[in-house]
Formats: sequence, C-alpha cells, structure tokens
Amino acid sequence: METTLRGVGVSHGVAIGEVRHMGTAVLEPPAKQIPAEEAEREQQRARQAVDAVAADLTARGNLAGGEAQAVLEAQALMAQDPELMADVDRRVAVGSSAERAVYDAFAAYRELLANAGEYLAGRVADLDDVRNRIVARLLGVPMPGVPDSDEPYVLVARDLAPADTALLDPTLVLGFVTEEGGPTSHSAILARALGVPAVVALPGAGEIAEGTLIAVDGSSGEVFVNPTEERRAALEAAAAERKAALAAATGPGATADGHKVPLLANIGGPADVAAAIEAGAEGVGLFRTEFLFLDDSKNAPSEEKQVEAYRQVLEAFPEGRVVVRVLDAGADKPLDFLTPGDEPNPALGVRGLRTLLDHPEVLRTQLTALAKAAEGLPVHLEVMAPMVADRADAKAFADACREAGLRAKYGAMVEIPSAALRARSVLREVEFLSLGTNDLAQYTFAADRQVGAVSRLQDPWQPALLDLVALSAEAARAEGKSCGVCGEAASDPLLACVLTGLGVTSLSMGAASIPYVRASLAKFTLAQCERAAAAARAADSADEARNAAQAVLSGE
Ligand code: PEP
Ligand code: MG
Repeated sequence: METTLRGVGVSHGVAIGEVRHMGTAVLEPPAKQIPAEEAEREQQRARQAVDAVAADLTARGNLAGGEAQAVLEAQALMAQDPELMADVDRRVAVGSSAERAVYDAFAAYRELLANAGEYLAGRVADLDDVRNRIVARLLGVPMPGVPDSDEPYVLVARDLAPADTALLDPTLVLGFVTEEGGPTSHSAILARALGVPAVVALPGAGEIAEGTLIAVDGSSGEVFVNPTEERRAALEAAAAERKAALAAATGPGATADGHKVPLLANIGGPADVAAAIEAGAEGVGLFRTEFLFLDDSKNAPSEEKQVEAYRQVLEAFPEGRVVVRVLDAGADKPLDFLTPGDEPNPALGVRGLRTLLDHPEVLRTQLTALAKAAEGLPVHLEVMAPMVADRADAKAFADACREAGLRAKYGAMVEIPSAALRARSVLREVEFLSLGTNDLAQYTFAADRQVGAVSRLQDPWQPALLDLVALSAEAARAEGKSCGVCGEAASDPLLACVLTGLGVTSLSMGAASIPYVRASLAKFTLAQCERAAAAARAADSADEARNAAQAVLSGE
C-alpha cells in the first residue's frame, strides 16, 4: 500500500527506485588483551590504517574538488591528529588490540567534542565516519558508506558524511533521502551541487526496508513508499513536463513580460565555474572565498595564491557581474588562526565581518588581491561583506575597500535581522545589498541551520522572513540601489517568483538550479509575481504561504 512521508526537498527532480541503505553500522571490536610482545606490531598496524584512511579521504577530496575537497581534507587531518594517535599508542601499550585502541581513543575524543560547544559538536558525525573507516580497515571488513551496487538505487541514510556525498555517482544514485539535516546544511548544498534529487529531515527514513520501491520528489519534499502505478505515471509526467520547460527556456532571466532578473551562480572557487557557465549563469552572485582558506587552517593563503584564484573566476565572466564575498570565517566555518576557540555560542560570536575587523591585515590582503586580479579586465567586480549588523559595520567595510584602492561596487550581505530592519541606514554606506537567507532565517527564528529538528523554522517561505526580504528590497528601491538574494531561497523556482514580486533584483544559486528558476520565472508576469508575493506575506505559516503563492500563480 502506498504511504506518503514528508520531509524537506533540497534538490529538484524526481527519482523512482529501490532503497539501498547506507552502511552505517558502528563496528565495536572485541576488548581482547594482546601479549606485550605484540604491542609494537599493533601500534604499527594502527598507524598504517590511519595513514591509509587519511590518504583515501585526501584522494576522494582531490577527485571531488570544490567545496567537498576542503571538508574531506579536514577529515583527513582529524584522522591523523597527533594527540589521538598518542592515545592509541598508549592504549595498545597496555594491552589493547589496534582496532580496540582506535575505537576507544576516538570514543574519548568524541566525548570531548560533543561537550565542546555547538560547532565542534557538529563535527561528531565526521569524526565517527573517520573512526568507522579506520576500524573497518583494521578488521578487514567492507568500508561503511555508499553501498556497492551495479543497479541504480535511491540512497537512504540517517545523514550523509561528506566523504560519501562527495563521491556519490550520479549515474547509480538516482536520488537520496536523509533522516537528519536541514535545508541549508552544507550537505544539502553539496547535494544540489551534485544535481541529484534529494529530500532531507524525513522522519522514519531509516525504517524504510531495504529494496522497497520509493518515489522521491525533491521539489515538494514528498517521498512515496510503494507508489501506485498512477502516482509513478503522474510524477514521471510532471518531471518530463518540467524537463521540456527547462529545455524551452534559455537566455537571461526574465518574467513573461520581460522584467529582467539576472540569474547568477553561487560558487566556492574556480572549480565551480564550468558548471555555472554550462547552466547559463549571467555571472557570479556569491563567490564563497572561505574555501580558499580551508586548505591550511593555520595561515591565510598568500596574496599571490588569492590573485590567481580570483583572476581565474573573473576571466571566466569577461562581461558579467562577479560578486565576491570576503572571508566568512567563524561559527560553522571556523579557522584556527582567526576564530576564538572559547566562544560559548560561536554563531552569535565573532564571525564574518566581525572576524575581519579584528584581523584587518587578512581583509587588506584579500582586498588587495582582488584589486590586482581585476586589473585590466572589463569585468563588473562587486565585493560584499558577510554578517553586516548595522551602518557602522557597512562603513568599516567600505572604508577598508577604499583604503585598498579597490575599484568595485561595495555591498553588504543582509543576514542579520537588524540589517534588514535598518536597510536604508546600511545603504548610506554601500551600493548594494545581498540577502543571505540561510543565515537570515537562522537568526530570525533562533534556529540553528545545522539542526534537522528545527528545519521547519529554516523554511525560507516563513512569512516573517519574506517580510524582512520585502523591507530590504523596498529600501534598496527607494535608494535607487540593487538588492539580490544569494541564499538557498533563490533556488526554489516558486519562491524565486515570490522574491521577484517582493522587489528583489537578482537571484543567485547553485548552478544546477538555474534552469529550473529560469523556466519558472518565464511563465509569469511581474504583476502575477507581485500578487503571489502579497498572498504569501498575508499567510501565517510557511506551508500556507507556499500554497497561497501556488494558488495565485496557477490561477486557482
Ligand atoms: C546565507 O547565509 O544565506 C549565505 C548565502 O551564506 P552562507 O550560506 O555561506 O553562510
Ligand atoms: Mg551566511
């Protein structure tokens, strides 16, 4: 019998196939004593396994490139942490087998992390993944992770470790479903980069039996278990219709009556440029430069290294707009040499622009590198700061840009409600706004973007979030300046129409979403988008807002 489960759709498209669960079994090796004369050999075995796992993670990173690479390299470093290794040696010296020593040493470290504040607690899943890989290797059993299968399947997991998302083979993995994770978690962002339909935060996903046929609608967030023939036919027809609409819509982003809404790409570095161009991006709306800084958590990249990376991106869009965000370190993206390690609540602490104002030399190097990279190119360079709270923040950033002699437009990201509420005041100092709806939702609803349990509040259809978008867009219009959206909200084709109706002037998203948003915008006039926006804002919940906008746009 067909049953319907509802989660959060984070990557468009329909996938119909059999369930394969991720191998997540925690392998607990037996606690047997080894004779003292075997200790040295066991220590060596442990070290070899650790090195092999670290090398494998690094190799997966090299293969994946882009944002995934930084995450995998961080895991490789975790595996080789000298203190952890010393603990493993100590445990073997008093009689543990290599696998048991690794298991226990990681357990002790895990406890430390879990109690060490929000960000580090969030790394526990990564640490468990590393431990499982090392223990599996020592025991000579298959690695936990993506199942071996020659047939295409729908992958179901509690959550996906970065090591797995990075290497999912889109020809075998039809789509994926996870029990945890929010719509703006970094694993959801990776799923979109991969271009496979995905639903996250789906309660009960783990209980769907292996081999069950399911249909995943990555747009609506619905998962149909044992779908009927009619359901499958309807979903396939809708997917085919969407594909045809995608193929028909080409060119710059615009509504049916020609109101232009540039469609830009979110990128993490030069590796993401090809996909952006392929999707017809009209430029880059968010270049997340922090990925350049993750290679080495102890030092900032040199000015030369930065110039090279920026230049590669700028050259790819000779006539287009490229919006570069200066380093957004802290909270979910800490850097050892910049982020204080003792903050009780890092998301509310020194992060984003606050970090850069505490370390002006890092900001100066980045702005100088950008100025050099843009020299002699006809590109429209724009530079923006993350986590701007008020006019003083905006002024400090604009002053730093001027001092670095940067010939670019200076902008502020609106990610904190105060910046939206006082957008006109912020706009006295900068030339454009860009709404980071992921953080704006996090701070408006006091809902951590990493936590699946509060994903209801991370839903960008929440009318309170739409009100803040409207306030910012109205302020920009009054000042004759632009106000784009670069948070994940821009990648929802229906919401993109509502954002346009609210007065947003450009939409920036992962490249895979651009064709969907382009096709959706092309179906409606600006007046229809404005009516849908008014209906959504009049609602009292995210679901009601979505339904109200849908009703207006489908002419119900
Ligand atoms: C946002 O917060 O919406 C945003 C675009 O920035 P990031 O997701 O990198 O924090
Ligand atoms: Mg942000």
